[in-house]
Amino acid sequence: MKRPRITDVKATTVTVPLHAPLRTANGAHWGRFVRTIVEVETDVGITGLGEMGGGGESAEAAIVGLKDYLLDHDPFELEALRFMICNPTASLYNNRTQIHAAIEFACLDIVGQFLGVPVYDLLGGRVRERVDFASYLFFRLPNAASGEGEVRTADQLVANVKAVKAKYGFRTHKLKSGVFRPDYELELFRALADAVPGDRVRFDPNAAYSVQEAIRFGKAIEDLDNDYFEDPTWGLNGMRQVREAVEIPLATNTVVVDFEQLATNTRDPACDVILLDTTFWGGIRPCLKAAGVCETFQIGVAVHSSGELGVQLATMLHLGAAIPNLALAADAHYHQLTDDIITGGKMLYQDGAIRVPTEPGLGVTLDRDKFDQYAELYKELGGYPYDRDPSRPRWYPLVPNTRWADPAESASGG
Ligand SMILES: [Mg+2]
Repeated sequence: MKRPRITDVKATTVTVPLHAPLRTANGAHWGRFVRTIVEVETDVGITGLGEMGGGGESAEAAIVGLKDYLLDHDPFELEALRFMICNPTASLYNNRTQIHAAIEFACLDIVGQFLGVPVYDLLGGRVRERVDFASYLFFRLPNAASGEGEVRTADQLVANVKAVKAKYGFRTHKLKSGVFRPDYELELFRALADAVPGDRVRFDPNAAYSVQEAIRFGKAIEDLDNDYFEDPTWGLNGMRQVREAVEIPLATNTVVVDFEQLATNTRDPACDVILLDTTFWGGIRPCLKAAGVCETFQIGVAVHSSGELGVQLATMLHLGAAIPNLALAADAHYHQLTDDIITGGKMLYQDGAIRVPTEPGLGVTLDRDKFDQYAELYKELGGYPYDRDPSRPRWYPLVPNTRWADPAESASGG
């Protein structure tokens, strides 16, 4: 049987609106996501899909720049692909881990389609048919057009969690924080937990706190039903100090994002739960390998979201399907989006979970009309600076941060 060979690589940047701008410790998603969709074509007529974020910017040039490396490559040769693109010593000048991830997704999609099996069957098979998700709540600026969707006060946050719980069935709720001063966010996080009795909660200030502030905050939420306290402070040594003082497991998507850091964290534990991101780790397969290390050393794992449309969400679902030790709900920004570029529209949540696609490959295809529509919208709007807040011109955060937004101000969105 003739094996497929790569004949072309295309990258198209799209922007898809969010219900409202999402605020973070570092800036904001300005009312939309910017994602670059990768199409890897082969000589057997199969096209594989990949996706990459870029902090509000296009990654087209980076993807297309690798075309000469990829032409005539056999997509089955995934380890060779890794060393061709991101050899760890050769990559000191040009870190391509995230670009590799987008190409790896597409190659797995090609192989799955070629063999007629879903990607999870290339990863050892699925141990679950659906993946549970957390609600992933944000402080939000009002939608610039409608003026709706703001989340800034306790009442707005409680209304938001009740609405998404009723609509999607979430039983785990994560609050992205680090926007307002810690005491204010503590009050709101406790109000959130009170509003969903019996459900689990997570708090993630994106490493905005000092070690001392993180310990103080952690102790003040120890009585809640916490899955974990996510990246309360910066650095493995900071996390280790918080872990020694607070009786809540610590999770990270920030300071353990490669195997070197995982080895360090295994020898000298600083984080209890590793949030595996199919882009940050360089693909689905590196996440699967990391999950195996975590299984061996009894470290927890969950699935991280760095913002996704349906192609990336499919990678998260196939990963989630194949990891036996996934005992925690996955994160996804997905319900914050108004639309998607995949055939059939947005994937559906049922009882807080999404069904893992069973069609060959990643199991998603592009809706060409939607794809063209949102590619045009990107051409019209361009990118946005993810590390800036549209409501606070010239603001930037420190680490640890002290420059909090004022919760008394109802700011306008971008
Ligand atoms: Mg995080």
